[in-house]
Amino acid sequence: LVEISDVHKSFGPVHVLRGVSLEIEEGEIVTIIGRSGSGKSTLLRCLNGLERIDGGEIRVEGKRVHADMPDLREFRQRVGIVFQAYNLFPHLTVERNITLAPVLTGKIAKAEGRKLAREVLERVGLADKIDAYPERLSGGQQQRVAIARCLAMAPHLMLFDEVTSALDPELVGEVLKVMEEMARQGMTMVLVTHEMGFARQVATKLVFMHQGTVWEQGPPAELFANPRTPELKSFIGSIR
Ligand code: ATP
Ligand code: MG
Repeated sequence: LVEISDVHKSFGPVHVLRGVSLEIEEGEIVTIIGRSGSGKSTLLRCLNGLERIDGGEIRVEGKRVHADMPDLREFRQRVGIVFQAYNLFPHLTVERNITLAPVLTGKIAKAEGRKLAREVLERVGLADKIDAYPERLSGGQQQRVAIARCLAMAPHLMLFDEVTSALDPELVGEVLKVMEEMARQGMTMVLVTHEMGFARQVATKLVFMHQGTVWEQGPPAELFANPRTPELKSFIGSIR
């Protein structure tokens, strides 16, 4: 589904991605871990076409992704991304937050909006909040609405960048549960996360990024039990 080969990305003099290669099969749950600044968020943003890459190639569903592809907007509908800050529109209800993009892009007619909103809200367990404004929701609920908003575009691939990091600990579980359910239903997902429990139990592949490259990758249980490099060993030690 995704082929990343030898991708390079710099911001001015800072060479952030230094030859990242990674393949992701359909239905895989890939967890990316690594120290702050190792390029995890940058890689997700490149995957979504939000950043221009300087070298190498990214293909999603066989199609080369680049910042000036003519159908970038359409491409972004197939690759959903959820960030740490939920970015809901505060002046719109949950329903409008969810239906805005699908209606604007002509994916659905306005009259079908409520039905679609209800459907995706059910998947994140928030059907009763359809008419609420974001400020009336907890952080965990807002993040679940943000996920529902992504689902409304029927993406083929979902990217999550530390979606639970800003949440109070007691709210983390409900968001992880939603993501676990999506994984169970076969969604292909790439997550940057500090939730090692999720990485161990749900992920099919663990990717350790270090200094802008994929330093190690493999089945989570294997990597946790037998890190091959001192860098991963010390990273695992630091998060325990
Ligand atoms: P964290 O765990 O802290 O989120 P990360 O692995 O996600 O870290 P990135 O956000 O990808 O790291 O950043 C990698 C490097 O790229 C950092 O040195 C950062 O300062 C730099 N960087 C990221 N985005 C930009 C930008 N828009 N302009 C300039 N530098 C950037
Ligand atoms: Mg980051």
